[in-house]
Amino acid sequence: MTTPGNPFDYSGKTVLVTGGNSGIGRGIVHFFVAAGAMVLFTARDAEKARRVEEETASLGKPARFLPCDLRIETDVMRLMADVAERGELDVLINNAGIGSRRYAVEPGDPPGLRWDKLRQPNLDSTYFASAHALPLLARRKHASIVSISSTATLHGNWGLYGVAKAGVEALTRSLAAEAAAFGIRVNGVSPGWIATERDLDAPASGNGQEGWDVPPNLFDRMGQPAEIAAAVAFLASPAASFVTGQTLIVDGGLSIIDYTSRKLLEERGAGLFTGMLQADRSSS
Ligand code: NDP
Repeated sequence: MTTPGNPFDYSGKTVLVTGGNSGIGRGIVHFFVAAGAMVLFTARDAEKARRVEEETASLGKPARFLPCDLRIETDVMRLMADVAERGELDVLINNAGIGSRRYAVEPGDPPGLRWDKLRQPNLDSTYFASAHALPLLARRKHASIVSISSTATLHGNWGLYGVAKAGVEALTRSLAAEAAAFGIRVNGVSPGWIATERDLDAPASGNGQEGWDVPPNLFDRMGQPAEIAAAVAFLASPAASFVTGQTLIVDGGLSIIDYTSRKLLEERGAGLFTGMLQADRSSS
């Protein structure tokens, strides 16, 4: 009988987080430092990275920044050489990515450029980092990869961003199949709306932006980076030793609800349990 162990104890482990200088990645860096890991993180903006290094100094071993443009394979090869020089690698977290909403595409971009701008930072980055990390991970027991997708894969109106992230989920299954022989598990986390610097003005942030009149999910709030980090930490740990090739949706119920009819059905008490819960509440 094996015991799963504590999924939030990463002492003695080295974790590499891509896109660790802001948003969800910053939250993941904080989470793993607090869980006792030696955390390395990568991104392009060194100034933002410096702040994360400083913040983590008070949580445990300070996280270390290794700059890299993950769209460029030779840069990723240099990154992995840097990681290898520092020691072992137990966990790779492919978090870096860019959405279509603000940063990436311009309305006039021709199709090829549009696809490059969304595929390179989301899918190429995940492929390059995973492929070049595999030899390092294969040396370790219980090594794993976790890649951040998006619920945009489920909704057609997110365009090529959703397509690139669907590629990340397919890559997760392919890598899981190939890496199993080396004892490496590969999984993913698919976030819904998460409160990050980037998305603070997003429609789902509940800031009253015009045109947004339905709640962002069942809990009527944005998710927090730490809530994504907790799911990543579970999947990357020996507690998930029999889980591979899966992408866990962490979205507060966004993807399971038909929001167009939510209000109507609630008002009519059409749910299986709502009537019983309401009756129970009024009788107590
Ligand atoms: P941020 O913009 O805050 O962070 C993106 C990170 O990726 C930054 O650290 C950025 O660093 C890094 N990055 C982007 N391009 C590159 C590159 N070419 N090379 C290296 N690093 C790069 O976004 P979020 O925290 O919101 O998003 C994090 C992940 O979560 C992304 O994959 C995103 O698609 C996904 N996601 C986010 C959701 C949300 O609601 N926030 C919802 C669903 C999924 P730098 O610019 O310095 O290189």
